[in-house]
Amino acid sequence: MIKKPFITKDQAEKIIKDFPTPFHIYDEKAIRQNARNLYKAFSWNKGFREYFAVKATPNPTILKILKEEGCGTDCSSYAELLMSKKCGFVNPEIMFSSNDTPLEEFRYANEIGAIINLDDITHIEALEKACGIPETVCCRYNPGGKFAISTTIMDNPGDAKYGMTKPQIIEAYKTLKEKGAKTFGIHAFLASNTVSNEYYPTLAKILFELAVEIKNIAGIELSFINLSGGVGVPYTPDKEPNDIFVIGEGVHKAFDEILVPAGLGNVSIFTELGRYMLAPYGHLVTTAIHEKHTHKEYIGVDACAVNLMRPAMYGAYHHITVLGKEDAPCDHTYDITGSLCENNDKFAIDRKLPEIDMGDILVIHDTGAHGFAMGYNYNGKLKSAELLLREDGSVIQIRRAETVDDYFATLNGFWDVI
Ligand SMILES: *Cc1c(COP(=O)(O)O)cnc(C)c1O
Repeated sequence: MIKKPFITKDQAEKIIKDFPTPFHIYDEKAIRQNARNLYKAFSWNKGFREYFAVKATPNPTILKILKEEGCGTDCSSYAELLMSKKCGFVNPEIMFSSNDTPLEEFRYANEIGAIINLDDITHIEALEKACGIPETVCCRYNPGGKFAISTTIMDNPGDAKYGMTKPQIIEAYKTLKEKGAKTFGIHAFLASNTVSNEYYPTLAKILFELAVEIKNIAGIELSFINLSGGVGVPYTPDKEPNDIFVIGEGVHKAFDEILVPAGLGNVSIFTELGRYMLAPYGHLVTTAIHEKHTHKEYIGVDACAVNLMRPAMYGAYHHITVLGKEDAPCDHTYDITGSLCENNDKFAIDRKLPEIDMGDILVIHDTGAHGFAMGYNYNGKLKSAELLLREDGSVIQIRRAETVDDYFATLNGFWDVI
């Protein structure tokens, strides 16, 4: 698949007049279209809802766009719950899928009517202490071992800190029922960034079979099954993107084969996608400001790992386009670096690119999810602005860039001292 930026060089130059690089920019039209396709792919399920994983792109403007497309939010902290509430999400449009949860957060989640997803059996007691057992409650499952699709190992749930074992989760439902809960759901997140149409259908089959077991053993009929996140995007151009319609049909087939015959045909399917909803529809836009020829060829840009941590943290590939040179031959090999005093602050290593001149504008692709959000302030670097390319082609700022005032804001009387 050819990766084409959603802004041109001309557009970028115009935007930069108002908002200097580096910045993140999101494509509203594409975000909406993708959300609509997801809903269409699961339209066979009456109660379907996507709870967007706020941590992927925690910006109120983005949350409101997704709300207009019918999505709820999936939160894992007080701040994310608060943001969801401020954006107008109400019961049952908020999931609280946290782990190692402070009691105050259970209390607040319950107060605003979020559906609480328990990560552990001991959280029943914690929840009871915090706010009592709500009428609706969800439990997170971890089957352990390896998660494989046919013979390919996709991820390693046995090493993951999340969720309950099968005996624990069955015990948990029984206890929750005794303590007054009336509506139940199940949740599992077993593999991350899957570029395979088989992930959701395989996961669905596991959860659907467990739902039947729970009905038979504990006498509890689940109301919803949350397939969580994990549907991925092709960061590298050699991969084919997932086909959400094939995925939706795969889940539909498992639903008809397993849940319907067991009398569980009214179960609602929920998702908690983050990456799939946003990653391809965000760019990090940055300018080349230095070139360095030593043991390797370096291009220094004005963004750094503070703006996009995935390459430094995971060695993740992010495609790069040099605007205006989309069709030029990739006959140079560069390391594209940021300015942190960390040698892993590189957006690309040994990347074949067209010749880069100082002042060239680079688009780093697929930064719409887990991009800006993972930012930090190492080396006293500041977080960038976030912009939105609207459907009418105009561009608005949806978060301003940090200033040094923000950086010093948590120090007692910093400006008074100097
Ligand atoms: C991170 C996370 C998600 C979203 O994951 P993606 O890989 O962005 O789809 C969903 N649910 C939970 C509980 C998460 O922690």
